Amino acid sequence: MLNKIEHLGIAVKSIDASLKTFETLLGAECYKVETVASEGVKTAFIQIGESKIELLEATDSNSPIAKYLEKRGQGIHHIAFDVSDIYKEIERLKKADFELIHLSPKDGADNKLIAFLHPKSTEGILVELCQEK
Ligand code: ZN
Repeated sequence: MLNKIEHLGIAVKSIDASLKTFETLLGAECYKVETVASEGVKTAFIQIGESKIELLEATDSNSPIAKYLEKRGQGIHHIAFDVSDIYKEIERLKKADFELIHLSPKDGADNKLIAFLHPKSTEGILVELCQEK
């Protein structure tokens, strides 16, 4: 079951340069900055109510975020849904012919297990499933 939108991922060239904009816009402070080395990405999270914004900066010029920024510039990168059982959801979506980038969950930022769906099968939107560990 997909419970709610957990966060929106926004690709930025530099978290240092962009964080203040989002903190001021949202009237809230970043509660966590975390690097996910395996994805070549640095993340910063801001929460308002139940909603979170995840800023994503490339730490490696070959990372998916670096490629995204090169191709499309800064902007909304993905939408993440909170799920109760990520293994079950992966199975359900596989059966429904969605293309998964991750066939088994992996460690993501902010203490989550995550899996991405390919935008090819989701009308152009990069979708992340995430489950609190
Ligand atoms: Zn995310």
